[in-house]
Amino acid sequence: APFGYREVPAAEKASLVRRVFDNVAARYDLMNDLMSLGVHRLWKDAMVDALAPRAGMSIVDVAGGTGDIAFRIHARTRGEARIAVCDINPTMLAVGQDRAIDRGILRGLALVAGDAEALPFADRTFDAYTIAFGLRNVTHIERALAEVRRVLKPGGRFLCLEFSKVTLPLLGRIYDTYSATMLPTLGGIVAGDRQSYRYLHESIRRHPPQEKLAAMMAEAGLARVTWRDMSGGIVALHGGWRI
Ligand code: SAM
Repeated sequence: APFGYREVPAAEKASLVRRVFDNVAARYDLMNDLMSLGVHRLWKDAMVDALAPRAGMSIVDVAGGTGDIAFRIHARTRGEARIAVCDINPTMLAVGQDRAIDRGILRGLALVAGDAEALPFADRTFDAYTIAFGLRNVTHIERALAEVRRVLKPGGRFLCLEFSKVTLPLLGRIYDTYSATMLPTLGGIVAGDRQSYRYLHESIRRHPPQEKLAAMMAEAGLARVTWRDMSGGIVALHGGWRI
């Protein structure tokens, strides 16, 4: 397989992830709606509800891609928060920039190319750090979590929205079948790219389940770590604080 997604050694994961998002960037938003039947919008709304952003806050959305989380934060704060969208992939950021221009919302928004494992921000910069459907794409999750703690101010909030482990047995079986067969098929038809959507399935399967991710967050020095399942654990919202 050209993508080698079966067993991806750490050294190759970054370039694989780069290729996947280069390939899907143009169709990324459409594919999210199709694959999740629009439900990703509700998951993202729930994350921003939990964040409850206020005017004057300084927030970084890491792996922010085409801007979905940042635009929601911007809308809720009426452009009165400072938001940095940081993503390792310039192609995804370029789509995000076009969308921001279309919506006329560049004020208060900075688009920054950078790696979650080595963020281009000073210590104690942000009141909040969000990451949606990003952490599973990072090569070394522990390094990314250490960066979370570093760039947050004391009292700062961390929220992570990510695919997780389905907790309902029947739903789990349906979902496994769906994601192993329908995702690559849809990816092939709509984006002309079956392989990238097989990577999606693999990356979800390999991502640490709820308890494990919570333990890793605590390990990285985040406090009061909690999570909440959504859609039966298809997605989980983890939260923690830098104190
Ligand atoms: N947050 C957006 C959303 O929810 O629609 C985009 C999520 S998309 C599935 C994953 C994003 O993670 C891609 O834009 C990809 O470029 C980015 N990414 C992957 N590895 C990264 C890393 N090490 N640092 C920063 N961003 C990364």
